[in-house]
Amino acid sequence: PAIVSLKGISKTFSNGTVALNNMSLDIRQGEFVSLLGPSGCGKSTALRIITGLTGPSTGRVDWPQETASATEHELSFVFQEPTLMPWATVFANVWLPLRLKGISQRQAHDSVMEALEMVGLAEFSKSYPRELSGGMKMRVSIARALVTKPKLLLMDEPFAALDEITRFKLNNDLLHLWETFGWTVVFVTHSVFESVYLSDRIVVMAARPGRVVNDMAIDAPYPRD
Ligand code: ADP
Ligand code: ADP
Repeated sequence: PAIVSLKGISKTFSNGTVALNNMSLDIRQGEFVSLLGPSGCGKSTALRIITGLTGPSTGRVDWPQETASATEHELSFVFQEPTLMPWATVFANVWLPLRLKGISQRQAHDSVMEALEMVGLAEFSKSYPRELSGGMKMRVSIARALVTKPKLLLMDEPFAALDEITRFKLNNDLLHLWETFGWTVVFVTHSVFESVYLSDRIVVMAARPGRVVNDMAIDAPYPRD
Protein backbone atom coordinates (compact mmCIF):
# COMPACT_ATOMS: atom_id res chain seq x y z
CA PRO A 1 0.00 0.00 0.00
CA ALA A 2 1.13 3.57 -0.68
CA ILE A 3 2.17 5.67 2.30
CA VAL A 4 2.06 8.84 0.23
CA SER A 5 0.93 9.57 -3.31
CA LEU A 6 1.83 12.58 -5.40
CA LYS A 7 -0.96 13.06 -7.93
CA GLY A 8 -0.43 15.32 -10.91
CA ILE A 9 1.76 17.75 -9.01
CA SER A 10 2.92 20.90 -10.77
CA LYS A 11 4.99 23.64 -9.18
CA THR A 12 5.73 26.99 -10.73
CA PHE A 13 7.68 29.41 -8.54
CA SER A 14 6.76 33.08 -8.38
CA ASN A 15 9.65 33.96 -10.71
CA GLY A 16 8.10 31.73 -13.38
CA THR A 17 10.42 28.73 -12.97
CA VAL A 18 8.57 25.49 -13.62
CA ALA A 19 10.12 22.99 -11.16
CA LEU A 20 7.55 20.21 -11.56
CA ASN A 21 5.10 19.51 -14.33
CA ASN A 22 2.35 16.95 -13.71
CA MET A 23 4.44 14.65 -11.52
CA SER A 24 2.89 11.52 -10.03
CA LEU A 25 4.59 9.10 -7.66
CA ASP A 26 3.53 6.49 -5.08
CA ILE A 27 5.82 5.72 -2.16
CA ARG A 28 5.03 2.29 -0.70
CA GLN A 29 5.55 0.91 2.77
CA GLY A 30 9.08 -0.34 3.48
CA GLU A 31 10.69 0.84 0.26
CA PHE A 32 14.06 2.51 0.01
CA VAL A 33 13.45 4.78 -2.96
CA SER A 34 16.14 6.89 -4.58
CA LEU A 35 14.99 10.01 -6.37
CA LEU A 36 17.75 10.41 -8.94
CA GLY A 37 18.41 13.13 -11.48
CA PRO A 38 20.67 16.04 -12.36
CA SER A 39 20.74 19.26 -10.35
CA GLY A 40 17.71 21.40 -10.96
CA CYS A 41 15.36 18.64 -12.12
CA GLY A 42 12.98 19.18 -9.19
CA LYS A 43 14.01 16.48 -6.69
CA SER A 44 14.15 18.79 -3.67
CA THR A 45 10.93 20.47 -4.68
CA ALA A 46 9.18 17.09 -4.87
CA LEU A 47 10.52 16.16 -1.43
CA ARG A 48 9.55 19.50 0.07
CA ILE A 49 6.06 19.09 -1.31
CA ILE A 50 5.82 15.68 0.43
CA THR A 51 6.87 17.34 3.72
CA GLY A 52 4.41 20.16 3.26
CA LEU A 53 7.20 22.76 3.53
CA THR A 54 6.24 23.80 -0.01
CA GLY A 55 2.74 23.72 -1.44
CA PRO A 56 2.08 22.50 -4.99
CA SER A 57 0.67 24.92 -7.57
CA THR A 58 -1.70 22.20 -8.78
CA GLY A 59 -2.16 18.54 -7.90
CA ARG A 60 -2.63 16.64 -4.66
CA VAL A 61 -0.56 14.91 -1.98
CA ASP A 62 -2.53 11.97 -0.55
CA TRP A 63 -1.77 10.01 2.60
CA PRO A 64 -4.03 7.00 1.98
CA GLN A 65 -3.36 5.36 5.35
CA GLU A 66 -4.14 8.42 7.44
CA THR A 67 -7.47 8.52 9.20
CA ALA A 68 -9.55 11.62 8.69
CA SER A 69 -8.73 12.78 12.22
CA ALA A 70 -4.94 12.48 11.91
CA THR A 71 -3.42 15.92 11.72
CA GLU A 72 0.25 15.07 11.58
CA HIS A 73 2.05 12.76 9.18
CA GLU A 74 4.82 10.90 10.91
CA LEU A 75 7.71 11.89 8.75
CA SER A 76 11.20 13.14 9.40
CA PHE A 77 13.46 15.10 7.16
CA VAL A 78 17.27 15.12 6.91
CA PHE A 79 18.83 18.06 5.07
CA GLN A 80 22.10 18.33 3.17
CA GLU A 81 23.87 20.06 6.03
CA PRO A 82 23.71 18.72 9.55
CA THR A 83 21.71 21.55 11.15
CA LEU A 84 22.56 20.98 14.80
CA MET A 85 22.24 23.52 17.60
CA PRO A 86 25.89 24.32 18.39
CA TRP A 87 25.20 25.39 21.98
CA ALA A 88 23.47 22.14 22.89
CA THR A 89 24.88 18.69 23.59
CA VAL A 90 24.38 15.78 21.24
CA PHE A 91 21.73 14.47 23.65
CA ALA A 92 19.84 17.78 23.64
CA ASN A 93 19.99 17.99 19.85
CA VAL A 94 18.44 14.55 19.45
CA TRP A 95 15.89 15.23 22.20
CA LEU A 96 14.62 18.37 20.37
CA PRO A 97 11.79 16.83 18.30
CA LEU A 98 10.47 15.03 21.41
CA ARG A 99 10.88 18.16 23.50
CA LEU A 100 8.75 20.07 20.99
CA LYS A 101 6.05 17.46 21.63
CA GLY A 102 6.26 18.22 25.35
CA ILE A 103 8.29 15.17 26.36
CA SER A 104 10.65 15.85 29.27
CA GLN A 105 14.34 15.06 29.26
CA ARG A 106 13.80 12.18 31.66
CA GLN A 107 10.90 10.71 29.69
CA ALA A 108 12.91 11.08 26.48
CA HIS A 109 16.12 9.58 27.86
CA ASP A 110 15.71 6.00 26.65
CA SER A 111 14.45 6.96 23.19
CA VAL A 112 17.28 9.43 22.68
CA MET A 113 19.92 6.94 23.77
CA GLU A 114 18.39 4.26 21.56
CA ALA A 115 18.54 6.59 18.54
CA LEU A 116 22.15 7.46 19.35
CA GLU A 117 22.99 3.77 19.65
CA MET A 118 21.50 3.13 16.21
CA VAL A 119 24.00 5.54 14.70
CA GLY A 120 26.86 4.37 16.93
CA LEU A 121 27.23 7.56 18.96
CA ALA A 122 25.77 6.69 22.37
CA GLU A 123 29.04 7.44 24.12
CA PHE A 124 29.06 10.96 22.59
CA SER A 125 25.76 12.04 24.15
CA LYS A 126 27.43 14.67 26.33
CA SER A 127 29.66 16.02 23.55
CA TYR A 128 29.01 19.23 21.65
CA PRO A 129 28.69 19.35 17.85
CA ARG A 130 32.03 21.21 17.48
CA GLU A 131 33.79 18.19 19.00
CA LEU A 132 32.49 15.87 16.26
CA SER A 133 33.63 15.16 12.70
CA GLY A 134 31.36 15.98 9.76
CA GLY A 135 30.31 12.35 9.46
CA MET A 136 29.48 12.13 13.15
CA LYS A 137 27.41 15.35 12.97
CA MET A 138 25.46 13.87 10.08
CA ARG A 139 24.85 10.74 12.16
CA VAL A 140 23.50 12.94 14.98
CA SER A 141 21.13 14.55 12.44
CA ILE A 142 19.98 11.10 11.41
CA ALA A 143 19.46 10.10 15.07
CA ARG A 144 17.37 13.25 15.57
CA ALA A 145 15.25 12.28 12.54
CA LEU A 146 14.76 8.76 13.89
CA VAL A 147 13.99 9.54 17.52
CA THR A 148 10.30 10.10 16.80
CA LYS A 149 10.11 6.71 15.01
CA PRO A 150 8.79 8.23 11.80
CA LYS A 151 6.84 6.21 9.26
CA LEU A 152 8.67 7.93 6.47
CA LEU A 153 12.23 9.23 6.40
CA LEU A 154 12.95 11.84 3.73
CA MET A 155 16.59 12.64 3.00
CA ASP A 156 17.72 15.39 0.65
CA GLU A 157 21.29 14.67 -0.48
CA PRO A 158 22.22 14.13 3.16
CA PHE A 159 25.86 13.28 2.51
CA ALA A 160 26.58 15.93 -0.15
CA ALA A 161 28.93 17.96 2.07
CA LEU A 162 31.07 14.98 3.10
CA ASP A 163 34.21 13.45 1.67
CA GLU A 164 33.82 10.27 -0.33
CA ILE A 165 35.10 7.84 2.29
CA THR A 166 32.83 9.21 5.02
CA ARG A 167 29.98 9.14 2.51
CA PHE A 168 30.63 5.51 1.77
CA LYS A 169 30.73 4.64 5.47
CA LEU A 170 27.47 6.45 6.08
CA ASN A 171 25.88 4.71 3.09
CA ASN A 172 26.72 1.41 4.77
CA ASP A 173 25.40 2.62 8.13
CA LEU A 174 22.15 3.77 6.54
CA LEU A 175 21.69 0.54 4.62
CA HIS A 176 22.24 -1.45 7.78
CA LEU A 177 19.72 0.67 9.72
CA TRP A 178 17.16 0.35 6.95
CA GLU A 179 17.56 -3.44 6.76
CA THR A 180 17.34 -3.73 10.53
CA PHE A 181 14.39 -1.47 11.17
CA GLY A 182 12.44 -1.69 7.90
CA TRP A 183 11.68 2.01 7.47
CA THR A 184 10.33 3.66 4.38
CA VAL A 185 13.01 5.96 3.00
CA VAL A 186 13.04 8.46 0.15
CA PHE A 187 16.60 9.46 -0.64
CA VAL A 188 17.32 12.34 -3.00
CA THR A 189 20.63 12.07 -4.81
CA HIS A 190 22.36 12.93 -8.07
CA SER A 191 24.75 10.03 -7.53
CA VAL A 192 24.07 6.96 -9.65
CA PHE A 193 26.37 5.03 -7.34
CA GLU A 194 24.37 5.91 -4.24
CA SER A 195 21.06 5.13 -5.88
CA VAL A 196 22.19 1.71 -7.08
CA TYR A 197 24.01 0.86 -3.89
CA LEU A 198 21.31 1.92 -1.44
CA SER A 199 17.89 1.54 -2.87
CA ASP A 200 15.52 -1.13 -4.06
CA ARG A 201 13.76 1.29 -6.37
CA ILE A 202 15.20 4.09 -8.46
CA VAL A 203 12.94 6.87 -9.63
CA VAL A 204 14.62 8.99 -12.30
CA MET A 205 13.51 12.57 -12.83
CA ALA A 206 14.34 15.05 -15.59
CA ALA A 207 13.99 18.83 -15.68
CA ARG A 208 12.15 18.63 -18.94
CA PRO A 209 9.38 17.55 -18.52
CA GLY A 210 9.78 18.12 -14.74
CA ARG A 211 8.53 14.73 -13.65
CA VAL A 212 9.42 11.04 -13.39
CA VAL A 213 10.90 9.67 -16.62
CA ASN A 214 11.81 6.19 -15.34
CA ASP A 215 10.81 4.09 -12.36
CA MET A 216 12.77 0.91 -11.77
CA ALA A 217 12.66 -1.83 -9.17
CA ILE A 218 16.18 -3.18 -8.74
CA ASP A 219 17.65 -6.14 -6.94
CA ALA A 220 20.34 -5.36 -4.46
CA PRO A 221 23.35 -5.68 -6.75
CA TYR A 222 25.82 -6.20 -3.92
CA PRO A 223 25.65 -8.79 -1.18
CA ARG A 224 24.57 -6.98 1.97
CA ASP A 225 26.17 -9.01 4.80
P1 ADP B 1 17.01 19.56 -7.56
O1 ADP B 1 16.71 19.23 -6.12
O2 ADP B 1 16.74 18.42 -8.48
O3 ADP B 1 18.39 20.11 -7.75
P2 ADP B 1 15.14 21.73 -7.19
O4 ADP B 1 13.85 21.10 -6.82
O5 ADP B 1 15.96 22.33 -6.12
O6 ADP B 1 15.99 20.70 -8.04
O7 ADP B 1 14.85 22.88 -8.27
C1 ADP B 1 14.06 22.68 -9.43
C2 ADP B 1 14.02 23.97 -10.23
O8 ADP B 1 13.31 24.94 -9.48
C3 ADP B 1 15.38 24.60 -10.49
O9 ADP B 1 15.33 25.22 -11.75
C4 ADP B 1 15.53 25.59 -9.39
O10 ADP B 1 16.39 26.62 -9.77
C5 ADP B 1 14.11 26.08 -9.22
N1 ADP B 1 13.81 26.53 -7.85
C6 ADP B 1 13.92 25.82 -6.71
N2 ADP B 1 13.50 26.53 -5.64
C7 ADP B 1 13.11 27.74 -6.12
C8 ADP B 1 12.56 28.92 -5.53
N3 ADP B 1 12.32 29.01 -4.21
N4 ADP B 1 12.28 29.96 -6.34
C9 ADP B 1 12.49 29.86 -7.66
N5 ADP B 1 12.99 28.80 -8.29
C10 ADP B 1 13.30 27.73 -7.54
P1 ADP C 1 32.47 8.82 10.63
O1 ADP C 1 32.73 7.48 11.26
O2 ADP C 1 31.19 9.42 11.04
O3 ADP C 1 32.69 8.82 9.16
P2 ADP C 1 35.07 9.88 11.00
O4 ADP C 1 35.56 8.64 10.33
O5 ADP C 1 35.41 11.21 10.42
O6 ADP C 1 33.52 9.82 11.24
O7 ADP C 1 35.53 9.80 12.52
C1 ADP C 1 36.31 10.82 13.13
C2 ADP C 1 36.98 10.25 14.33
O8 ADP C 1 35.99 9.89 15.31
C3 ADP C 1 37.75 8.98 14.03
O9 ADP C 1 38.92 8.95 14.82
C4 ADP C 1 36.81 7.89 14.43
O10 ADP C 1 37.48 6.72 14.82
C5 ADP C 1 36.10 8.52 15.62
N1 ADP C 1 34.78 7.95 15.76
C6 ADP C 1 33.76 8.02 14.88
N2 ADP C 1 32.68 7.37 15.34
C7 ADP C 1 33.05 6.85 16.55
C8 ADP C 1 32.40 6.06 17.54
N3 ADP C 1 31.15 5.64 17.41
N4 ADP C 1 33.07 5.74 18.67
C9 ADP C 1 34.32 6.16 18.83
N5 ADP C 1 35.00 6.90 17.93
C10 ADP C 1 34.38 7.24 16.82
